[in-house]
Amino acid sequence: MRFHIVTLFPDMFTSYMNESILKRAQDNKHIRLFFYNVRDYSQDKWRRVDDRPYAGGPGMVMMADPLLRAHEKALARIKRFKNPISQTIIFSPGGALFTNEVARATLAKKVTDLIFICGRYEGIDSRVKHITKGTEWSVGEYVLTGGELPAMIVMDAMSRHIEGVLGNNTSPEENRVSSHEVYTRPEVFVWKKKKYVVPAVLVNGDHKKIEEWKRGEKEKGT
Ligand code: SAH
Repeated sequence: MRFHIVTLFPDMFTSYMNESILKRAQDNKHIRLFFYNVRDYSQDKWRRVDDRPYAGGPGMVMMADPLLRAHEKALARIKRFKNPISQTIIFSPGGALFTNEVARATLAKKVTDLIFICGRYEGIDSRVKHITKGTEWSVGEYVLTGGELPAMIVMDAMSRHIEGVLGNNTSPEENRVSSHEVYTRPEVFVWKKKKYVVPAVLVNGDHKKIEEWKRGEKEKGT
């Protein structure tokens, strides 16, 4: 999967995307990242990328032109890959909620290239959505200061579903019996003179019972 990120702040991605599993996923070419800095596409003498909203209101709105130029650049690059299937995502708190199901459906459609448009300030001129025919995704019911964290959330969650990213012996939690409640050694942990013991079922080796316990924990929502 190739991710094309249209953003004013590409540096925000460096630390998070270049450590641990997501770094390995890039080293192994399971995922690839391409950045398009919106400011580089501004035709304005001052490299402006935002302007006041029509009808007033607080804050600034990201202008259509530089975003669309950056988007076109991404499309042009995508065209050079073999048989690409691309989809444009515009991050918006008003968009459809991004879930595991959305991640899986996107991969099932064999999308090879995702273009992410990250907003800032009061958001993005709506004509960007109309012209790119992008889909709006939200990562949750709260308003963030920009679309960069949402882009990282989506790349992180989606990468886990790409074969090979989690290694040979692991699969995404969603495809196996897993519990959000986990323990590691020692079996008896002493903290401030009190003992905390791992649930007996997890150490007795009865796999059927262990699975039942995990299912139960999952249902409880722990
Ligand atoms: N006034 C806008 C919010 C702007 S927040 C509105 O009410 O819709 C600035 C940018 O951050 C947005 O353009 C979007 O790209 C991103 N963003 C903020 N919260 C988000 C969320 N929950 N999900 C996805 N993107 C979000």
